[in-house]
Amino acid sequence: MHNFEDPRLIRQLAYINGKWTAGTSGRDEAVLNPATDEVIGRCTQLDETQIVQAIDAAHAAFPAWRALSLDARGEILGKWHDLLLENKQDLARLMTLEQGKPLFEALGEIDYAASFIRWFAEEARRAYGETIPSHINNAQLGTVREPIGVAALITPWNFPCAMITRKAAAALAAGCTVLVKPAGETPFSALALAELAERAGFPAGVFNIITGEPEMVSQVLCASDKVKALSFTGSTRVGRLLLEQSAATVKKCSMELGGNAPFIVLPDMDVEQAAQAAIDAKFQTTGQDCLAANRIFVHRSLYEDFLQAFARRMGELTLGNGLIRGVNQGPLINRKAVTKAQEIVDDAVAKGARLLVGDQSQAPGSNYFVPTLLADVTAGMRVYREENFSPVAGVLAWDNTEQLISQANDTEYGLAAYVYGYDIRQIWQLMRGLEFGMVSVNSVKMTGPPVPFGGVKQSGLGREGSSHGLDEYSQIKYYCLGNLPSVSGC
Ligand code: NAD
Repeated sequence: MHNFEDPRLIRQLAYINGKWTAGTSGRDEAVLNPATDEVIGRCTQLDETQIVQAIDAAHAAFPAWRALSLDARGEILGKWHDLLLENKQDLARLMTLEQGKPLFEALGEIDYAASFIRWFAEEARRAYGETIPSHINNAQLGTVREPIGVAALITPWNFPCAMITRKAAAALAAGCTVLVKPAGETPFSALALAELAERAGFPAGVFNIITGEPEMVSQVLCASDKVKALSFTGSTRVGRLLLEQSAATVKKCSMELGGNAPFIVLPDMDVEQAAQAAIDAKFQTTGQDCLAANRIFVHRSLYEDFLQAFARRMGELTLGNGLIRGVNQGPLINRKAVTKAQEIVDDAVAKGARLLVGDQSQAPGSNYFVPTLLADVTAGMRVYREENFSPVAGVLAWDNTEQLISQANDTEYGLAAYVYGYDIRQIWQLMRGLEFGMVSVNSVKMTGPPVPFGGVKQSGLGREGSSHGLDEYSQIKYYCLGNLPSVSGC
């Protein structure tokens, strides 16, 4: 595989119980570079018995890991964090090769991924219990937080490192052991994280990466009584399946699912500023981002000016291989994604949308989709209803705030919403009226370790990051210490 400063980061075997492990069936899957369709490597596929062995290993490693002092766990997490940053160039290059995102975005993702490790190593120190004023005579009441046990983490391809560390760092810091199932499109980023975890000194069985056929792996994980928590990031469709599969063993589930973010421009907003922010919110990760602005609502008084400014600024988007300097839009993950984007555009145009930008004959390869601007989008179009996960921007005009709120909420999703403007009364009305887990006002950047990331409605359950991120991997034990000697005056 391409030149790396440290070629040992490139691992094509799974990592179970501290050992690099080949699938017993001998099967492996080609991993393609979406920019070129070249095979960049082959990833081993474990069979069912090996998934069970991995669960057993994580289960066996749990008592000793939870018993380690916070300092000892924090030291290993700290080393892992430092190793990510020391190997940032290689990790980012590997990510661009298998995921396609521009190198500068991949470098940013490594910083972002590492930041969760540092955060949770520190935050676990503050996983306090409570002392409860007693309603029972001569009893002391309180709670302690305990790690839940083995956690299964299933992650997507769009953020191949950060979606792993945002979960794994919280789970490991809380005292859980983990099994990570990365997306088949991007296993090498996950396996490189395992190589660094091994170097950081995680004991065998604490951090495992299992690669294999997704349905089979998930079914085994969900059916196992030894797996106590399941954390999934991916599509709402698969999230629903995993919730059903987890019902039999009543697992604690956290779900980070799809989004359909409204981006709202108020009448007092500067058009150029709003257009640039909407470009940033739409085209980050080439539109393959759960936070991507999916429906852009612009007040009618600014509408045509906004469309012009947005179209002009789209001229600064450069499509190409993410390893080339100056490229800020990469390929989509595969041809299926390109076909879906085209179908969404065709559907909108057939239903009356104006296609203002997006000549697909300019695409530099079969996995590329030229950034596209659709105006006059309506609620009956797929671009409005579905998470398009591509560089297709759909814009529509609004007139009335009440109607705007109900239109923005007219979706099964509820992950993130953006509001741009200055009128504090209108901003507050939107902030409270929007049924989304995260509302960002006048800022595209909203994520990071200290904040609770997550959605409402069918965008998910639970939160990642912040102190709440530890809750997904810990459980509360209430204690009642009765029959204590009474102390006069207390
Ligand atoms: P996906 O649901 O297809 O896949 C996610 C994971 O599930 C992968 O590991 C995949 O191998 C596995 N999987 C796929 N089909 C499965 C099945 N039938 N049974 C069990 N496992 C299965 O999602 P994706 O295409 O990898 O990622 C895109 C989706 O992820 C988008 O909907 C996006 O919004 C969402 N996402 C959400 C967040 C968030 O934090 N809310 C972050 C990133 C991505």
